Amino acid sequence: MTKYIYAFEEGNAGMRDLLGGKGANLCEMTGLGFSVPPGFVISTEACNQYVKEGAMPEGLMEQVMEAMNKLEEKAGKKFGDINNPLLVSVRSGAKFSMPGMMDTILNLGLNEKSLSGMIRQSSNERFGYDSFRRFIQMFSDIVLRIGKDKFEERIQRKKEEKSVNLDTELTVDDLKDLVEEFKNIVRENTGELFPEAPKEQLERAIRAVFESWNNPRAIVYRRASNISDDLGTGVSIQMMVYGNMGDDSATGVAFTRNPSNGDNNIFGEYLINAQGEDVVAGTRTPKPISELQDDNREIYQELVELMSTLEKHYKDMQDIEFTMEKGKLYMLQTRNGKRTAQAGLKIAVNMVEEALITEEAAILRIDPAQLDQLLHPRLDPDVEVNVLAKGLPASPGAATGKVTFDADLAEELGKKGEKVILVRWETTPDDIHGIIPSQGVLTAHGGMTSHAAVVARGMGKPCVTGCEKIRIDISNKIFKVDEVYVKEGDIISIDGGSGRVMLGEIKLIPPTVNKELQKVLEWTDRFKRLGVRANADTDVDAKKAREFGAKGIGLCRTEHMFFGEDRLPIMQDMILADSSTERDNALAKLLPVQKSDFEKIFRVMEELPVTIRLLDPPLHEFLPDLLDLKLEIEEMKRGNAKEEEIIKKENLAEKVRLMSEANPMLGLRGCRLGLTFPSIYEMQVRAIAEAATNVTREGIKPDVEIMIPLVSTYNELKVLRIITEKVLKNVTKETGVEIEYKIGTMIELPRAAVTADEIVEYADFFSFGTNDLTQTTYGFSRDDAEGKFLPKYLEEKILPENPFEVLDVGGVGKLVETACNLGRKVKPDIKLGICGEHGGEPKSIEFCHNIGLTYISCSPFRVPVARLAAAQAVLKKV
Ligand code: PEP
Ligand code: MG
Repeated sequence: MTKYIYAFEEGNAGMRDLLGGKGANLCEMTGLGFSVPPGFVISTEACNQYVKEGAMPEGLMEQVMEAMNKLEEKAGKKFGDINNPLLVSVRSGAKFSMPGMMDTILNLGLNEKSLSGMIRQSSNERFGYDSFRRFIQMFSDIVLRIGKDKFEERIQRKKEEKSVNLDTELTVDDLKDLVEEFKNIVRENTGELFPEAPKEQLERAIRAVFESWNNPRAIVYRRASNISDDLGTGVSIQMMVYGNMGDDSATGVAFTRNPSNGDNNIFGEYLINAQGEDVVAGTRTPKPISELQDDNREIYQELVELMSTLEKHYKDMQDIEFTMEKGKLYMLQTRNGKRTAQAGLKIAVNMVEEALITEEAAILRIDPAQLDQLLHPRLDPDVEVNVLAKGLPASPGAATGKVTFDADLAEELGKKGEKVILVRWETTPDDIHGIIPSQGVLTAHGGMTSHAAVVARGMGKPCVTGCEKIRIDISNKIFKVDEVYVKEGDIISIDGGSGRVMLGEIKLIPPTVNKELQKVLEWTDRFKRLGVRANADTDVDAKKAREFGAKGIGLCRTEHMFFGEDRLPIMQDMILADSSTERDNALAKLLPVQKSDFEKIFRVMEELPVTIRLLDPPLHEFLPDLLDLKLEIEEMKRGNAKEEEIIKKENLAEKVRLMSEANPMLGLRGCRLGLTFPSIYEMQVRAIAEAATNVTREGIKPDVEIMIPLVSTYNELKVLRIITEKVLKNVTKETGVEIEYKIGTMIELPRAAVTADEIVEYADFFSFGTNDLTQTTYGFSRDDAEGKFLPKYLEEKILPENPFEVLDVGGVGKLVETACNLGRKVKPDIKLGICGEHGGEPKSIEFCHNIGLTYISCSPFRVPVARLAAAQAVLKKV
């Protein structure tokens, strides 16, 4: 018979796969001798089996009841007993923490009989009835699936009747009434009585927790956090201890360091006379943990010491849950705490300084995707802002968007690409689908450990909580701050680092590399093997790239140099030229501007390599839209435009029409363009050579790599190489300055990849253009795929990931690897790089490392992420 149950004494922290994170850590803490209420864990295997078969695994309940017997012995109490009842919590806990996404039931085992025992034991009638009404509420919500609101409404009504504000102000009789009313709600909604038998309660609760693995919010969260659907949840069953036994009882959550900014101070919140859900649900704004010193100095000291022990043991920042029951401290949970990217960096750097972890461990611990979020624009500290209200700085970063009060609407607008800020009294796990597409979250209630705060920090979204000044009126879709009304759809901005809320849009500035990031990145350079370059088309981008530590430019797309008011008209003249003389005249005008662009880039990059790609896109991208032109002509005809003006426009329209292609991305572009109109490439090569000559004369030795795009057969490269070398030779002859150039090609078509051994004869380097290579391997046009069918493919798991974001190792990757091998066979030392967007994506970077590329190249803002991922690729193998 499969063993499904593990007592806390039987497990340890290494068993997260089998017991879930919560269960494994409860076992670990028990083993460490902490005061953990006794209990046991049902394995994730049992959950998976339940999910698969839709029925309780054979023998599971027998094992559960056997474990309950042992628990009764340990606790010295009996399940459902009239004198000294044992009550338990039934809690979910997967391998990776999914805060609030799955279900938990407290006070299980309560019924009329055990309630009287509980009251006798605690000599506290109020506590007994309060626990009972909570249990009915939770059980009804989670097991019987009766909406929470029905119960909350009754509580609210009762409070109004009694003219009180807080739950704690309700009397014993009020609570007795509520218990009766709650039972009636159950009867009305299910046609059955509230289940009294503890064993039945337990079995149904276990089933419900298993089922919560697949509730919609858990599925949404897993998708957003890249957690696999087939891990399953563990279920911990644990003797209850009470934070709501009076003023000498409390419950709280705490982090061993500040999860928002990484400071090495304990950080947390607690509530006197409350149960766990009161803290995390954000319904009551809890007190900061430091005030526990005044409420109970000894417990505070004990807590601080326990937390420090835990952190040293796990060598990572811990997020704990505790309960104080009548002056005794119990630990209910510990896990590696979720943190912002900035906090993650600071904690990692500090822990290395404290000799708690090694540099290698620090590098491996930083999540590249999270680091990416840190490299987003932030509030300009020098700009005066008009602050509307101030809340708690729950998750840093600035966000601007339309006010949205409803998670469904946030999801809908977010899907359309609109920027929204989700504004709520408090967020619950059910809002997760609205949080993901929002730019940021603002809540009126809730503390720094509320659901909104924890989830936002984990996702790197700016978040302000506990902003008590905002008064939300959901029915009228407005919120009010003093006399200011803000409607749904109005633009607001929030700054999650300071807690400020502002009307309208605010100015954001690009991110910079701070001290901690600098340090971590310096470490990565010590371990990584891959070079990291940036894709940059201007000197401004090049500067940013160097600031972020790029060691070269892997792709300078020259087409962007032909846009802009001063250049586009010349470019258009060039494209539309009727004769080669006309074309040469236009090119002669483009030469100096292009040259000056290259000079600026070379000056920034100094001796670092710069790969310049000759013109790639189809020419129509530089021309006006045909439909616009036709409308313009109609307009001119209706107005009193001169006949000759109209004819000129019509000629233009005709030329544009002639140039239009059925499928431009597979048409006249890349090297085909260079072969059809060689003078364009000749001009570009001359501009490169003259610019290189000029900066050489200034004392800078540029490392120039000229790259030919979209080659499919070696003959294309062979011819263009001859043309290129001829221009380079001519410039040297004219100037007397010798410069060494490399000439290479992009591998971005399947044919190029599989004939790389032929192409390599004419190439000094290969750079994999995996954007086009993905399009041409799949036969997907990116814009159409992402706009039309790819979302469905991802949803239905036809494709595991978007291949334009994460390199498709099985297909596109195979072509890349083949090309590398074929190229190396002929030229063992050939330089191999990647310049498609995958060059900045961590999983793809790991692949590039594994197949031995020379370098990766990505947009400047992703350079830090790429450096980190390149180092992680090495360290993961150690
Ligand atoms: C590529 O195809 O991967 C590439 C870098 O070129 P572009 O994105 O400019 O087509
Ligand atoms: Mg390309």
